[in-house]
Amino acid sequence: MAGTGQAKPKERPGFPVRLAPANPPGRPKLVPGTTPSIGPNRLMPQGLGMDSSAVRQNMVAKLAQQGISDAQVLDAMGRVERHRFVDTALVNQAYEDTSLPIGLGQTISKPGVVSRMLELLRQGCDGRLGRVLEIGTGCGYQAAVLSQLCTEVYSIERLRGLHDRARVNLRHLRLANVHLLFGDGMVGYAKGAPYAGIISAAGGESVPQAWLDQLAIGARLVAPVAGAAAGSRSQALVVFEKTAQGLRQTVMEAVHFVPLKSGVA
Ligand code: SAH
Repeated sequence: MAGTGQAKPKERPGFPVRLAPANPPGRPKLVPGTTPSIGPNRLMPQGLGMDSSAVRQNMVAKLAQQGISDAQVLDAMGRVERHRFVDTALVNQAYEDTSLPIGLGQTISKPGVVSRMLELLRQGCDGRLGRVLEIGTGCGYQAAVLSQLCTEVYSIERLRGLHDRARVNLRHLRLANVHLLFGDGMVGYAKGAPYAGIISAAGGESVPQAWLDQLAIGARLVAPVAGAAAGSRSQALVVFEKTAQGLRQTVMEAVHFVPLKSGVA
């Protein structure tokens, strides 16, 4: 399927899980233990106590202290049970601001970076975003957070093992608006275009033209790009905004993402 753009939706999980309405903008819910959570319906791994809600709300409070101010992003981060997406041996680190291995040499991004990218993606948007394309499903965590913030999520992964794992992780959430795709995300997913936002969890030396082509006018693409900051070869987050007049590009802070690779494996 590499390079053909023929990736097909593999799974459309059943009906949406019941969720409390998102908090209104400007009023993040930071009270421990009050936000309904979502997470794969497995047995709770040992080591995190009976309820991860308080520790998750603590993480959200730290994200707010670090400068994340989008109430909807904070609310979504508070709902998704990150510990359900990592190995049992790592559950105790799940709510620390650290990236963690998810197998096949890949990592789940730090909560701080996930929330920062989502905030950048949503900037200027009052309600829910429309259709969003995510490159690099990984374990499916960010797709679950995205599902709370946009109408449809198309998430594409090039490694079969991780695509399958994300499918298992997300199955019981029954997020009807998440569509998992197996294929090479370098070509985007033309069938879902135009997108109200595109977000990449893997970084190359430039952004594939297909992503820019598949972006709607007024929409944003957030991606790590190597060598984007002047005088540095390391990665930085870049926000591309597509306007009727052309593309506006803003280079943000330095980041460390796994490489964007072509083809499938
Ligand atoms: N958002 C993920 C992060 C996964 S890490 C999560 O929440 O877990 C980034 C992922 O991008 C890896 O799984 C890697 O395999 C994938 N990736 C790299 N290049 C890709 C490409 N061309 N198409 C699709 N996925 C790609």
